[in-house]
Amino acid sequence: MPVTPPAAPADVSPTDAAVPQDFDALLRQDPEVAGILLAESRRQSDTLQLVAAENFTSPAVLAALGSPLANKYAEGYPGARHHGGCEQADAAERVAVRRAATLFGAEHANVQPHSGSSAVLAAYAALLRPGDTVLAMGLAYGGHLTHGAPGNFSGRWFEFAGYGVDPDSGLIDYAQVRALARARRPKAIVCGSISYPRHPDYGTFREIADEVGAYLIADAAHPMGLIAGGAAPSPVPYADVVCATTHKVLRGPRGGMILCGAELAERIDRAVFPFTQGGAQMHTVAAKAVAFGEAATPAYAVYAHQVVAHARVLAAGLEAEGFEVATDGTDTHLVVVDPAPLGVDGRSARDRLMAAGLVLDTCALPHGNGRGLRLGTAAVTTQGMDEADMARIAALFGAAVREADDAGRLRAEVRELTGRNPPYPG
Ligand SMILES: *Cc1c(COP(=O)(O)O)cnc(C)c1O
Repeated sequence: MPVTPPAAPADVSPTDAAVPQDFDALLRQDPEVAGILLAESRRQSDTLQLVAAENFTSPAVLAALGSPLANKYAEGYPGARHHGGCEQADAAERVAVRRAATLFGAEHANVQPHSGSSAVLAAYAALLRPGDTVLAMGLAYGGHLTHGAPGNFSGRWFEFAGYGVDPDSGLIDYAQVRALARARRPKAIVCGSISYPRHPDYGTFREIADEVGAYLIADAAHPMGLIAGGAAPSPVPYADVVCATTHKVLRGPRGGMILCGAELAERIDRAVFPFTQGGAQMHTVAAKAVAFGEAATPAYAVYAHQVVAHARVLAAGLEAEGFEVATDGTDTHLVVVDPAPLGVDGRSARDRLMAAGLVLDTCALPHGNGRGLRLGTAAVTTQGMDEADMARIAALFGAAVREADDAGRLRAEVRELTGRNPPYPG
């Protein structure tokens, strides 16, 4: 059970605690690396960040990440560490665990996984044995690497069966999921994707898992922030284990987390440490706690709903520009489009967009039509853009992909948009 940590001692103040975050010192000591960091900072503020998996963390999250807790070794769990001096590391992890469990209504939270992939690895380690069969979304339809890619541990150590989407609607074909589950008798079913713009039907996945005696693992890396803000349904009441990242819509530091019921808590904890990881990154754990605190505020709920509203405006605008929009729209931060009706393939379309300062990914298209474009509204919404800005971005897409306008002029319009909404004002 979560233990309430002591409040920060009254005698600690930022002036006497040695927190050596001094960018000027880095610039003097190592201009080569400092220059790279400054150029990256400029890239992030000068171009439009539409990579669907990215966001801008708050200065408070960045402060926790740059804190001396980065120096601390803390193998184990609060109250049971293998290293001395873990008092504050324990306090930070207890706050993070308590906030995550409260935010998502889960009985147990593990906030140590170094990444989303580490979280999935630990979930498989807790529930499966090598050679077991797992049913997950096929990679061609938006399954993640950890859902059976041949070059990933998942594809090497487990037998994967892949479900897809209905070719007309682009929606998950639950009849196919059920038929595959009956035929293959998987030990676990995974729901979650890197590019599915709609909500999975967690209740139906639960029913199918129960019919065949499989565990249900929700890999909610993408929508976890929408879930926190009440803008997407939660898998927590349905799934045995929920894996997620903390750095996508959720807007925390780069990392992973796992939620589960009390009965699996110990298996999950042992699967994270000592099975798949050594010492947790305690500065990241502290930054996760800060992000969970932010995600519990009314302002974050407003943000999460705006992210979805913005994605809908963007999807409608892109459709009007002639792009084919997967599933005819979106319920989330994700929009997937095929530029083929404009006579351009996904890779060339992305190159043209990048030249105009619009940064995004290509992705697999559900019907094997080559590659499409995947974009998300989490970062542009964090920096304060509104629905009118989304309509302008859609128009920029049309102009850039058709090469209807000179890339330099489009670049200037992107600069105007980002200049009015800098990710880190001041
Ligand atoms: C992003 C993502 C992951 C992995 O996250 P990393 O932190 O990059 O390892 C896993 N599963 C899904 C569905 C994702 O979208």
